[in-house]
Amino acid sequence: MKLTILGCYSATPRTNTNPTSQVLEINNHVFLIDCGEGTQVELRRNKIKFSRIKHIFISHLHGDHYFGLVGLISTFRLLTRETDLHIYGPKGLKEVITLQMKLADSWTNYKLIFHELTSKESELIYEDDKVEVHTIPLDHRIYTNGFLFKEKEGERKLDMNAVLNADIDVSYYRKLKQGFDVVNEKGELIKNETVTKPPINPKSYAFCSDTMYNERIIPIIEHVSLLYHESTFLEKHISLAAPTKHSTAKQAATIAKLANVGKLVLGHYSTRYDDLKAFKTEAESIFNDVELAKDGKTIEIN
Ligand SMILES: [Zn+2]
Repeated sequence: MKLTILGCYSATPRTNTNPTSQVLEINNHVFLIDCGEGTQVELRRNKIKFSRIKHIFISHLHGDHYFGLVGLISTFRLLTRETDLHIYGPKGLKEVITLQMKLADSWTNYKLIFHELTSKESELIYEDDKVEVHTIPLDHRIYTNGFLFKEKEGERKLDMNAVLNADIDVSYYRKLKQGFDVVNEKGELIKNETVTKPPINPKSYAFCSDTMYNERIIPIIEHVSLLYHESTFLEKHISLAAPTKHSTAKQAATIAKLANVGKLVLGHYSTRYDDLKAFKTEAESIFNDVELAKDGKTIEIN
């Protein structure tokens, strides 16, 4: 699983920084998460093939999280895309995008499938045989969801020495991987755990932007391998965090600690800060594995 940060500041695009957008590569999927202005340029810069993007997840309708979307949809059209595009986001997203296409009389030649979200509870919004995506209801000025991306638990691994020693016919290997006990060639029952090893730990990623400090998300994100939590402000500007419904670096780290996550990535910095070191220092006073998001940075999720 690999995360690429395309943009990680709040508010406005600037010469060297872009508003929020990320790409998560997970089991052959390329999921685009938020799509601020500049996203398509950053996709090109990071050599991410447009045609591999089939699912886009939009957290909320503040411009720094989706003003790049209509441009990207339009570029896909100009590139004569034919593959369906699934877009998950708050109710209203379909209206705002289709109005722009209507007024430009520029409809896509591929299918746009909107999955509009309204629930205030966490819900499963995408699933296949290897991956699940759930919403994380956040507490922001308008309706906002984070997203939890989870690998499903895989199959058990065969311990080949043990399997061969136990005289098990090849036709039973599939059953063994699925966790069943089997009968060997001598008619003896072979317990699954004596010839297989547990599956590799499934990895997970939680994206939480934008939100004020909110402990209600902890049960949803508990033990994720990687948490991205917004930290718009430093603690010295905490008085700005509550009215704008954003978080400080220290608050983000507190959530990471309480949820026992593997690693924390901070982002969505206010453009008032040029030097970001203080975000890391502040968060590390609470939680020890902290990384700063930076445009173009990739993070392997282990
Ligand atoms: Zn916002």
